[in-house]
Amino acid sequence: MKEYLDRIKNAEELCWINPCRVPAAEGLSQIDFSADDVADAEARLERFAPLIMHYFPETRGDGGIIESPLTELEDMKAVLNEEGARLTGRLFLKRDSDLKVSGSVKARGGVYEVLKHTEDLAIENGILTGIGDDYLKLASEEARKVFSRHKVQVGSTGNLGMSIGIMSAALGYEAIVHMSMDAKQWKKDLLRARGAIVVEYEGDYGAAVEQGRAESDADPMSYFVDDENSAALFLGYAVAAGRMKRQFKAQGIEIDQNHPLFVYLPCGVGGAPGGVTFGLKLLFGDNVHCFFVEPVNCPCMLVGLETGEMNNICVQDIGLSGRTEADGLAVGRPSGLICQMMNLLMAGEFTVDDSRLNEYLRKLYKSENLYIEPSACAAFIGPATISIDEDAKRYLRQNELEDKMADAVHVAWATGGSMVPQYVRNELLRG
Ligand SMILES: *Cc1c(COP(=O)(O)O)cnc(C)c1O
Repeated sequence: MKEYLDRIKNAEELCWINPCRVPAAEGLSQIDFSADDVADAEARLERFAPLIMHYFPETRGDGGIIESPLTELEDMKAVLNEEGARLTGRLFLKRDSDLKVSGSVKARGGVYEVLKHTEDLAIENGILTGIGDDYLKLASEEARKVFSRHKVQVGSTGNLGMSIGIMSAALGYEAIVHMSMDAKQWKKDLLRARGAIVVEYEGDYGAAVEQGRAESDADPMSYFVDDENSAALFLGYAVAAGRMKRQFKAQGIEIDQNHPLFVYLPCGVGGAPGGVTFGLKLLFGDNVHCFFVEPVNCPCMLVGLETGEMNNICVQDIGLSGRTEADGLAVGRPSGLICQMMNLLMAGEFTVDDSRLNEYLRKLYKSENLYIEPSACAAFIGPATISIDEDAKRYLRQNELEDKMADAVHVAWATGGSMVPQYVRNELLRG
């Protein structure tokens, strides 16, 4: 135990195996959410599809369903192997970087929560008679007038704010985004251009959330999207799993005992990777192995789980700075809700040094002509080291996976990128 904590304190890159993980069926039985809750979220997103197409015509090709491609990375795999990764099996990129509306994984959870709130509000106010009604009524002048009297607020390091801000403003709400010091300027500019109000803070993510929550709670007409505790965000993210399962099927890819699935998920407060992990565990059980990835200077989920303190501890408590170029992962304290669940389900964690992020970014761009943002690049530490790290190898051995790795499927979850403006891309590509 102590040894890991010392390495974490030293900001070393490491692979941490979760000692508390239990078999999937047992873990899922101890969790308050179920497959029915995910199905409910999926159905709600389908009800809203006509409205999504109305406000975001770029989603028409997908019938108003916001979903991302799953792309095999043969060339990137070769690049990683040239550098000694010894990765076997197939490597894929889940390109949430290209999700419509807000260009990051937050277009799942964030959009979903705003829609759920909207449905509740619309039924309460008689705009919709019920869930069988025509959801295009929500774009009527009468409906928009109701929404304009309501606020939606959120605290964010950037991408959640973009998702909530863009969707809320589009529906007619007064959208207020409380942005931490880590938030990139272009994200603030873009939000303001879409009609959201951006409040800037000198402090970190925790401070922005705290202030946003206080302001929202003081206003009965305001709804706060609580990234640290939100069931709606969690379920919105979880929907990704069933969609990816269908993509595997369409591409003829089997996931079973002999074809294990490894998923590498960049983690901030934990909601996005936690929701995706929950969804995947429901569908693939013990055949899926979910690893979170955090920056060495800001591994909040790792610190919470390794110490057992969950959200009662933050990275600063063990002497880490919490500072990272990966703005989407710049969260010093994990979600308590997510910690409790991931303690049961998550395979483990990789930590990554900031210096690697731009390297992966350039290599992916060069080998595959795909651009993703630095936070998303963190995912590649998984495929780069799962076959060579001693702790990762022990995990494979103990779970009798070694002889199955030739048929493994690896998915790096690209959590953001398509909305990064060209001038920022150029800077990052130059290094
Ligand atoms: C938000 C975000 C994450 C992590 O999501 P959490 O819910 O905060 O754990 C990862 N990558 C990017 C690019 C993000 O914006």
